[in-house]
Amino acid sequence: MKKTIIANWKMQLGFKDSQMLIKELKQKIKKTSSEIVICPDYLSLSSASSVFKGTNFNLGAQDCAIKASGALTGEVSPVSLKEIGIRYVIIGHWERRTVLGENSELINAKIKSALAAKLIPILCIGENLAEREAGLAKKVLLGQIKAALQGINIKVSSNLVIAYEPIWAIGTGESIIPFEANTIHTFIKNEVNKVLGKNIRVVYGGSVNSSNSFEFLKQKNVDGLLVGGASLNVKEFSSIVNN
Ligand code: PEP
Repeated sequence: MKKTIIANWKMQLGFKDSQMLIKELKQKIKKTSSEIVICPDYLSLSSASSVFKGTNFNLGAQDCAIKASGALTGEVSPVSLKEIGIRYVIIGHWERRTVLGENSELINAKIKSALAAKLIPILCIGENLAEREAGLAKKVLLGQIKAALQGINIKVSSNLVIAYEPIWAIGTGESIIPFEANTIHTFIKNEVNKVLGKNIRVVYGGSVNSSNSFEFLKQKNVDGLLVGGASLNVKEFSSIVNN
């Protein structure tokens, strides 16, 4: 199966820099054996969709609203995202959970609205350092899986992706040992299978770069990567996707 490599640009670039990076990526990455998903900010999605038309690049949003339409000032409908050619949507990234206070009910509602619009949710889960050190990582992950997937059905396994992102590894330069990621991914796959009856993709995120990506991608149950900082550099990112 192809590995899925997701670039999360967060709010790191201004509009002009995003446009430049989109064009550079198109020029630099012509052929790859992985599935690539670029997630720029909302403002850049529409132009990215035009630039990437007919290429191997898929696009993802970094979030979406809890419903298709309505009085929700400032929100973006998953249906509109679908209309402009977006395929994926990141949901429950730790920055949204912690900095913006998103709770599990909201995350569950966003997954439902994304699926209803035929977007593929990339559900982010992960433990913090204190939880890891207390030996609670699996318990925390299980709680996040059960809360996020409550009442959810998917027809095929490709309709959902889980990103395992240990919070202590995001943006810190410190990543988990690839073999340990594989063990945790196996646990996540088994637990999600109990809830959904599907063997879904689990990608790893947290300080991935061109030096460690190969070791992660070698692991059987690491189905891809979610890359933050290193995805903003064309050379770094193209070397990760061509691993
Ligand atoms: C992220 O924010 O999801 C992430 C994985 O960031 P980084 O690669 O910079 O750790």
